[in-house]
Parts: sequence; structure tokens; C-alpha cells
Amino acid sequence: MSDMKVRFAPSPTGNLHVGGARTALFNWLFAKNQGAKFVLRIEDTDPTRSRDLMVKNILDSLRWLGITWDEGPFFQSERLKRHQKIATDLLEDGKAYHCFCSVELLAEKRKSSTSLGKVWKYDGTCRDLNQEQVQNMLQQKKKSVLRFKSPVRGSICFEDKVFGDIVHQMEVIEDFVLVRSDSKPTYHLGVVVDDIDMGVTHIIRGADHISNTPKQILLYRAMGKTVPVFAHLPLILGLDKTRLSKRHGASALTTYRDKGYLPESFRNFLALLGWAPDDGSEHLLDEELISQFSLKGVSKSNAVFDVDKLQWFNSQKLSILTAEKLLPYVKTELKRSGLWQTHYNSEKKVWLLKVIDLLKVRARLLSDFIDQGLPFFSDDFEIEIKAKEKFLKDESLRTLLPELAVRLKTLSQFGLEDTEVLLRAFADEKRIKAGLLINGARVLLTGKSVAPGIFDVMVLMGQNRTVNRLAKIY
Ligand code: GLU
Repeated sequence: MSDMKVRFAPSPTGNLHVGGARTALFNWLFAKNQGAKFVLRIEDTDPTRSRDLMVKNILDSLRWLGITWDEGPFFQSERLKRHQKIATDLLEDGKAYHCFCSVELLAEKRKSSTSLGKVWKYDGTCRDLNQEQVQNMLQQKKKSVLRFKSPVRGSICFEDKVFGDIVHQMEVIEDFVLVRSDSKPTYHLGVVVDDIDMGVTHIIRGADHISNTPKQILLYRAMGKTVPVFAHLPLILGLDKTRLSKRHGASALTTYRDKGYLPESFRNFLALLGWAPDDGSEHLLDEELISQFSLKGVSKSNAVFDVDKLQWFNSQKLSILTAEKLLPYVKTELKRSGLWQTHYNSEKKVWLLKVIDLLKVRARLLSDFIDQGLPFFSDDFEIEIKAKEKFLKDESLRTLLPELAVRLKTLSQFGLEDTEVLLRAFADEKRIKAGLLINGARVLLTGKSVAPGIFDVMVLMGQNRTVNRLAKIY
């Protein structure tokens, strides 16, 4: 292990969405690639009523995505004393000061400044109060916040590993608040103190945090600590090129899990939201993602979230993965639908693997194993009206299919060849096209007009079920 350390620091103000998951994944890939440690820190200083549920959702989502952490989860809310202590140190060192300006006064000033077309920045009213003035106000129990004393001139420059050199002029950086009037530390203070205490060396996070970075660098410097490496990840947009939101169907990660996406394909898809391997390949196994990931490959341009592409990735992965690998996922789906039977794990396992192999090439989502697979797992399935109208409308099938059933019943071997030879010979004998029987049989056996090869279906359905279903045409 190197002494590098990254972290994922979500605020549990909502479920884990695509953007947060992409940040977590990039940190994880970086850590795995570099042998760095991965810290999980929940930044829960904004108390929301549903905090516990959100935290659970974040942890469940990370686990589903296969993201593991070496340290944590730490909860920022448990470290408030530490943040306050650092703020007091900064105050004592003259690097922070009490500000007694009321919220109303600041709102007023902000309003008049914006009405003049100026960008508001705290005007430093309390920056140069003398000791006595400060003591007086404190004694009068006047409400105050602690502000950081930012340098007035110069600029802050940092090298972002993705965006290159970024310069912010001090004129635009105000004396930002470190501790609120209710003694709660602000995000800037908490994040920097925690990153320092936890030994974080590389901060990989969304580009929406770029504007926070200069203030945080000022804090590192004020505390005499090494500034970590920063890498900001490009924004994720919807297909309409606006920032990704619920409108784009970008829902919580757990929704994708529940819809039947594989974590393998989701990882692969997420990894390509802002990163590409040198050779531009798109379908990568986890080992390849890890070995090829580098911050150099992260793009400055916004990434586009395309749910059709995700679905395509999913169908590709479903067809590539072995039935054995898919089995636990299919098992979960079967359990969820009440179709799981214990002997699927024992004497029927080989059969189940064959069914998975048959269905996986057409599956786009894990739920397709139920939608398409239901006739394999249960006799209780509907025959689609369209399929019936299309392939069972020929009157002759009313007698032909039950007759075919009788013939199939006589087979002593019920393999692919046996069933095919029998059906074709039967069609020849009746001077009809085999297709007529095949299409009709498909509808009766599966309820659908599109399904895997009919003889594969018959063999996996088994002789009894095939015969029974064909016999019961009306
Ligand atoms: N808690 C912050 C967020 O969820 C992240 C802080 C950071 O990465 O610096 O946006």
C-alpha cells in the first residue's frame, strides 16, 4: 500500500444518485489502481429528519456497486468539537475573527450591491474590530459568527489534475464563515479539518466544487498543512445538455438495482462518464477498469448520461456473463417474484443454468428473466393477445397442435434432435409448413410471439409440460 489516501464524502441529504456514485467509483478506481486507501465519510452536519434512511441508502448503493472502503464510515457530526477547536486555534492565531453583522444587515447590503450590478462579497466590517470592541460585543451576548481572514491581495493558484492550472483572484474570495452563530462549523472548515485528520492526500470530486477549492487551500495554508492533490470531475449532463436531474430519469442508484441492472454494467457505464481508457475501448471488465484507470484519462468536457446506452451495456454484459455468474442475480429476481424453489439450488441447478443461458442472450434487464422466463418457472402465465391473433388464428391448429402433443408424448428421448425430427416429419405428413406448427407451439409454450428457439424451449420445458400445453389449445 502507498501512503496515498482518497475519500468519498457524501452528504446524506438524499439518496445516492448517478453523480455521487460516479465520484465514489472514480475514487475507488484510483485507490485500487494506485494501492491507495479509500475512506468513507458521511458529511451529516445538516440534520435532516430522514438522515438514517439516507445513510442506509448510500451504504446500500455503494455495496451494490461493489465499492468497498478501507476506513469508515466516519460521521462528520461526531467531530464537531474537533472542528470548533481548530476554529478557536485560528482565532487565537489571528487568522479568524468574530463577525457580529446580523443576517438582516448582510441581506440588506447584498441587495443593494446586486442592484448596482456588483457581485456581493462580505465587506469586512468586523475584520478590524479591536480586542476591546470584540470583548464588549461578546459580553453583550451579541450573536456572532467566526470568519476566516482571507488575504486581501494576490491570487490562489492550484494545479487541478483534470482541469489544469486554475487561478482565483483574491478579490473574489470573501472572508468566509468557519463557524455559524449556533456554533456549528461550516462545510469548508469541516471538510478541511477532516481531510487533514484522516490523512487524505488526493481529493477527487465533482467540478461543482472547484469554486470551493481556493477557500479550502487557504485553510490548509493557515493550518500549516500540505495541500492535497485536487482532481475535479466533469459535470454529468442529460441528453438535452442540461445538468443531470430527475427530469432525465436519473434516479437513485437503488432504483437501477431494482430495475434489474447489473452492478457490473453499471460500473462499466459509470466509469465512462468522464473517463476513457487510452485505447478508447468501451466494454471493460473490473480488472481492466482498475488497471487502466488514471486521472490523465479523465476528460474536462461534460459527460452525457444516456440511459439507452446503459441499457445496451446491460444487455451486452448479460449475454457475456456465464449462467453461473448470473445465477445469484436471477435467484434474487425469482425470490422477489415468489418463483424460487429450493431444488433450483440442488437437483434442478443444471436445468436452471440452461434456462439462464437460453434467456440471457435476449435479456436487457434482470427482470427479463422473469418476464421472459415465467413460462419456464410456472404454469401460471398469460398468452399475449397479439401473439394469439398472429400465430393461432389458423383453424387447423386446433387439431394439429393437440395431435402433435400426442406424438411428442410417444418420444422416449426428448432432446433437441428428437423433437425437431418429429415435428418436421409431422409437418411433412400433414403437408403443412413446419413454421405454422413452430409459431403456434411457441405461443402455447411461452405465451409470446418472440422467444428462444422452439426446440430449446421444448427440451427445457420438459416433455410433460410441452405435451400438456400443446394439448390445451382452446
Ligand atoms: N459533502 C460534499 C458533497 O456531498 C462533498 C465534499 C467534498 O467532496 O469536498 O457535495
